[in-house]
Amino acid sequence: MTYTKRADQSIKGQSIGENPGIRLFQSIDANDPIAVLKHGLKHFGSQIALASSFSMEDVALIDMMAKLDRAARILALDTGRLNEETYECAEKIRHKYGCNIEWFFPDKDSVEQLITDKGLFSFKESIGDRQECCLIRKVLPLERALTGLLAWVTGQRRQQSSTRANVQVIEIDEAHGGIVKLNPLAFWSADQVKEYVDIHHIPYNRLYDLGYQSIGCGPCTRASAQGDDERAGRWWWEDAAHKECGIHLVKPRNPAKEN
Ligand code: SF4
Repeated sequence: MTYTKRADQSIKGQSIGENPGIRLFQSIDANDPIAVLKHGLKHFGSQIALASSFSMEDVALIDMMAKLDRAARILALDTGRLNEETYECAEKIRHKYGCNIEWFFPDKDSVEQLITDKGLFSFKESIGDRQECCLIRKVLPLERALTGLLAWVTGQRRQQSSTRANVQVIEIDEAHGGIVKLNPLAFWSADQVKEYVDIHHIPYNRLYDLGYQSIGCGPCTRASAQGDDERAGRWWWEDAAHKECGIHLVKPRNPAKEN
């Protein structure tokens, strides 16, 4: 498989020299996800982890990381509303790579309070209600999962949506204390990811074969038409500009505003 180098795939322009986290990768070819991961694993060891939702991108990254280091860490968030197919995929991955998946759950009291006060589908009521559910079930558990890490890896790609159009391969994650955030597939297309998954016989979520292009929680994800925005099936009742759960916020959260 060949990958075409594009002018905007350089990490130049990311303030190399100003931030030590980005400077660390200045000799690495950002077009090469494996080189980026290899360098990240070598430098950060057990203080770097992939945050996986078992998307097509994440299973490709798990394959790359596991082949570089069998002890590479994989984190996962169980929101309590995942599809059965996602759990099946997670288990297939666990068996194939012999890896420990570190699962993080939402705070029990917060979930109980949310559904007691607002019911089981409050996320359909408004963007604010949806963001509240994502905050409790995803954003806060992720903050806990990232505690103590110096870097994390995600499967974000620029082509996934307008909200991800400026994703860089190497970023500084100000929303999580200024740790390094690697998005090794930032410039890959969905086809490139699927080709990698097929070539390496990697288990993937079978919902993709039913027309899903992006998979989150069960009640907030549906299949979408080819040609649609890749995240069109996520929170389909909302405007495209809001289709993020908050775990990829660029700025630090302001807890004072959440009450
Ligand atoms: Fe809640 Fe839906 Fe967000 Fe999952 S994706 S945390 S169910 S609002």
